[in-house]
Amino acid sequence: MSKILIVEDEQAIAELEKDYLELYDFEVDIENDGQKGLDRAMLGNYDLIIIDLMLPSMDGFEICKRVREVKDIPILVVSAKKEDIDKIRGLELGADDYITKPFSPSELVARVKAHLSRYERLVGNGGGQKNEFIEIRGIKIDKTARRVFVNEEEKILTTKEFDLLTFLASNPNHVYTKEELFQEIWNMDSVGDIATVTVHIKKIREKIELNTAKPQYIETIWGVGYRFKV
Ligand code: CA
Repeated sequence: MSKILIVEDEQAIAELEKDYLELYDFEVDIENDGQKGLDRAMLGNYDLIIIDLMLPSMDGFEICKRVREVKDIPILVVSAKKEDIDKIRGLELGADDYITKPFSPSELVARVKAHLSRYERLVGNGGGQKNEFIEIRGIKIDKTARRVFVNEEEKILTTKEFDLLTFLASNPNHVYTKEELFQEIWNMDSVGDIATVTVHIKKIREKIELNTAKPQYIETIWGVGYRFKV
């Protein structure tokens, strides 16, 4: 059974959403406050989160951004104001879908179902296949569950950090330029520049390397780029 968290300060709306989702066998929790909603989203094992934008103590923009930094579960944003939806879309905070209030509960259920099944296909929970791992000298990357362990200790990577590390580790001993990595991980229409690659490599090293001055996994090839050592 999929677990859903609703962060919504209007109790009547939250209850309505909950009732409908429960009719379709989802397990639903409600949080009425922004900060508490974020805490719960981080700690609870939710499969999907529905966030209202205007909330007490912390708004939905911030919650969306913070959750997306560490989790890749689907995030649905709801708001009464179309302008806010346009704003969050423009900020690219990583929400998967946007719904303007008022919406019909059946529309919400349909979207929840669509995002959950898409996500399950993506992480491979649906087929019951075995997880796909990369294991090289103490580092273990679970590609299916998108988790990283160094000497059995889990390291929490953001979505892009994970993608970058996994790409390099999947092609060991191959030197990639920053441009190539940028193209590969941030797609073509992405705004930004290749300095992003350097920043992400630094952050990954801080998380996985014992000594960032002498990296044992991701090597810098001066004047060229990076490679994952085997
Ligand atoms: Ca609200």
